[in-house]
Parts: sequence; C-alpha cells; structure tokens
Amino acid sequence: MVYINTSSEIEYCNWCSSTIFPASAHHCIGYPTNDYELVIVCSKRLERYLRSKYNAKGNNLRKLLRSIENILDNQHKSAIEYIIDARNKLVHDELCVKLDNRNLFIYNYHYITD
Ligand SMILES: [Zn+2]
Repeated sequence: MVYINTSSEIEYCNWCSSTIFPASAHHCIGYPTNDYELVIVCSKRLERYLRSKYNAKGNNLRKLLRSIENILDNQHKSAIEYIIDARNKLVHDELCVKLDNRNLFIYNYHYITD
C-alpha cells in the first residue's frame, strides 16, 4: 500500500509509525493483508476516532456519522460513507469476498483520520 503525504509537514504512518516526509510516498507493509481484517481494524479505529475527535454518538459507524454530519464537510462525509459501504458490502454481500478497491479504501480511511 502506498500513502502519499500531500501536506507540508512530516506525518507518521498510523500502522507502522514510519516517518513520512512531505511530498513523498510511503510504501506501508503494516496493513493487514487480509481485506476482512483490514476492514474490521479500520472500522474499529474509525469509530474510536469519530468519538474522540468529534464527540460522535452511536453504536455503529452509520449512527456515529449521522450524529456529526452537520459539522462535517462533504468530502469527509463521503469518505466515511465510502468506508461504511465498502465494509457492509464485504461483510453482508455473500458474493463479495474482497474489497473492490483496497487502495481507495485505505486512502479514504486516511483522508478522515489524518
Ligand atoms: Zn506504514
């Protein structure tokens, strides 16, 4: 997985704690290789993040999102909805056994939490 630091400051990878310099790419090998595991780990971390950063309320991501949607911009809302939809598809759709776009899933996760 490649993550690109588009900011002007040093960032640290959430998964492996590597330093990511501005305008450089980080090739992370810290992500779970199994999509199910990735989706579950990201969902849990995202729930915790939304509760602590925005004081979101609810016992699942959809409710957490609904409780804070009036204070989020459209891009953050879309990114959270992407995570929810991708997770639901993988967890509930019998025919779906992997993420459609793993990199986009990770990108959206970082977009919200970084
Ligand atoms: Zn990393």
